[in-house]
Amino acid sequence: MTSPSKTLFERIADGEIPADFLHKDDLCIAFRDINPQAPVHFLVVPRKPIPTLDDLTVEDQNLVGHLFLVAQKVAAAEGLTRGYRAVFNCREDAFQTVPHLHLHILGGRKMGWPPG
Ligand code: AMP
Repeated sequence: MTSPSKTLFERIADGEIPADFLHKDDLCIAFRDINPQAPVHFLVVPRKPIPTLDDLTVEDQNLVGHLFLVAQKVAAAEGLTRGYRAVFNCREDAFQTVPHLHLHILGGRKMGWPPG
């Protein structure tokens, strides 16, 4: 049964909603974004449902480091040898749409700066 309190990304992590997974471990998952903004666009998501960057606490320090190391590994596996962009959108001004912390990794094309 689906718990209404679960976030979209908890439901993906629990296998209730399908995703194109690139990585899974005890702490996080990585899967392709359903609406890619670059030739390679995937999300690295902690299993712990932290809503936003502003909700991180000291106890999450190692977890956040782990997300970046997984991002690095998956980016290499995806062939992003020329680099990539890593983004956390935080709350309304950044257009965060899913209230479950996630690291966007975008690559395979030149990125613009400043971002829109
Ligand atoms: P944000 O706007 O930073 O909260 O990013 C949420 C991201 O989740 C967007 O890039 C969406 O395209 C992506 N997304 C939403 N639903 C799914 C899904 N079912 N599978 C994969 N990615 C999704």
